[in-house]
Amino acid sequence: MAAPKVLFVGSECYPFIKTGGLADVMGALPKALVADGVDVRVIIPKYNVLPQEYKDRMTHVCDFWMDMGGIGNHFVGVETFDQDGVTYYFLDNEDFFGWGAPYTNMYDDIEKFIFFDKAVLAALPVIGWTPDIIHCHDWQAGLVPVFLRTLFYDTDLSRNTKCAITIHNLRFQGICERERMQRVSGIPDEAFALDKCGYSSAANAYRNDANMLKGGIVYADRVTTVSETYAGEIQTSEYGEDLDGIMRYHASKMVGIVNGIDYEVNNPKTDKHLTYNYSSRNVIKGKAENKLALQRELGLAEDPSKMVIGLISRLTNQKGLDLVGTIAEDMVVDGNTQFVLLGTGDSDLENMFRNLEWRHHGTVSSSIMYSGERSSKIYAAADAMLVPSRFEPCGLTQLIAMRYGALPIVRETGGLRDTVEPYNEYEETGVGFSFNRYDSWLLLNAINYAKTVYFTRRHSWDVMVRRAMTRDFSWNVSAKRYEELYCSMLG
Ligand code: ADP
Repeated sequence: MAAPKVLFVGSECYPFIKTGGLADVMGALPKALVADGVDVRVIIPKYNVLPQEYKDRMTHVCDFWMDMGGIGNHFVGVETFDQDGVTYYFLDNEDFFGWGAPYTNMYDDIEKFIFFDKAVLAALPVIGWTPDIIHCHDWQAGLVPVFLRTLFYDTDLSRNTKCAITIHNLRFQGICERERMQRVSGIPDEAFALDKCGYSSAANAYRNDANMLKGGIVYADRVTTVSETYAGEIQTSEYGEDLDGIMRYHASKMVGIVNGIDYEVNNPKTDKHLTYNYSSRNVIKGKAENKLALQRELGLAEDPSKMVIGLISRLTNQKGLDLVGTIAEDMVVDGNTQFVLLGTGDSDLENMFRNLEWRHHGTVSSSIMYSGERSSKIYAAADAMLVPSRFEPCGLTQLIAMRYGALPIVRETGGLRDTVEPYNEYEETGVGFSFNRYDSWLLLNAINYAKTVYFTRRHSWDVMVRRAMTRDFSWNVSAKRYEELYCSMLG
C-alpha cells in the first residue's frame, strides 16, 4: 500500500508557536513520519504573534470568503512554506488570529477554533490536496470530524478521508452553550444530541451545552491518547473529566501511543545553552560541570557533591505541586540536597515556591518564568527531576530528563507509568523512582530512596544514569505505531 497522505490539524506547533507539550508533538511527529516516507502536512492558525522570521518565509497559496452562518462571511487566507520535508500551512484571518496570544479567553477561543476547523476543510479543495487521513489534535480541532461528517457530508473530501483525533489532555474540552456553538458553526441539530456534541456535566445536569472535544471523539474514526495507561484511566470516573461514559462507549476505537521527544532539539551533546556538552560516555563529568555552572548562576552553594533535584512545570494543580509543598522542607533538611524549580502558573503556587527560596536561600532556587535556556541548564545539572503529577496523559519532562541523565522521580500515572521503569536494586534494572498513591509521604519516601542510592550506592546510580540516557525515547518507535494506525484505518 502507498504511504498515506496525512494532514495534522492543531492549535500550536514547535518551533513556530508553543505553549505546552502539544506543540512538541505537532513539531516532532510529522518530521519522524516524513522520514519514513509518509506525506505529512501540518496546518495551524497564522497567529499575529508568530516570529517574523517565519512570516517572512511564507508564500501565499489561496484566499476566499467563507460563510459562517450566524456570524457572517469571513476571510480565509492560506500561506505556506516547507521545512524538514514537511509542508506547513498557516491559516490567516485578522479578526480571529490577528491579536493576542493563541489562547486568550474561553469565550473568544471557542469562536476562533470553530472558524479554524471549518476553514481547514473549506481550504483543502482550494489548495488542491486531499489527505487520506486528517489527524486532529485536542479540543481546538475537535469540530473537524463533526464538520466533515455533517456540513461537508456530500463532498469528495468526506467520501475519501478518514479522521483520527488525539487527546493530549482531556481536561480541556472546549465547552460553551449549545445555542452559541450551533449559531457560529451552522452544524445541524442532530449533531447536538447528548450522545454527540451535546453536553451536560455531572455537576450541572440541566445545562444545555456543547463540547467540541466530545464531538471529535464521537465523529472520529479513531481516537488516540498519548499513553496506554491514560487510555485506560480516562475510562474511569477518577480521570474521565465527565467524559468517562463516552470514552467507555467508544473504547473499541481507542488506542494509546506514547509520545517521543525530538532527539535533535533535546540533545545534551549539541545543546547550545550548556556550559559543557556531554553524552552518555562522559555524563558524570558533564553533569558535574553543568551543576557548578547552574549553582553559580542561581546563587546556590557551589558544591558538586550536593544532590540537585529539579522540577520544571506549568504550576497548576494537575502537576502534584501541593505534594511538593508539603514535603519541600523535609526534602532539603539534610543539608546535602538542593532544589531547583522552573515554572509559571497559578499565583498561589508561584508564591509558595518564592517563599521556599526565601526561607532556604542558597539551597532552594525558584525561577518563576518560562525559559527554554534555563530549562536546558536544569535538565543538564540536575541529578533527579520530580514529576509527581495528579494525572499525566504522557508527560515530556521525564523523557527529556532521562535524555539528559537526570533520573525522574514520578507518580505512577498515565505516561509516567509507561515510560519510567522504577529502579530494582536486586536486579540492577530501571531508570528512575516512582510511587503510586497521590500522597505526599509516598513522594517523600521515593525521594529518600533516590537519595539513599545517590549517596550510598553511587556506582549503581551512575550506571542507571547511563541506562536512562541510552533508552530510546525518540519518535522512531511511536511514529511506526501511528503509521500502523493510519494503514489500519485505510483498510
Ligand atoms: P504539559 O504539556 O502538561 O505542560 P509536558 O510534560 O507534556 O507537560 O510538557 C511540558 C514541556 O514544557 C516540557 O518540554 C518542559 O520542559 C516545558 N516547560 C514547562 N514549564 C517550563 C518553563 N517554565 N520553562 C521552560 N520550559 C518549560
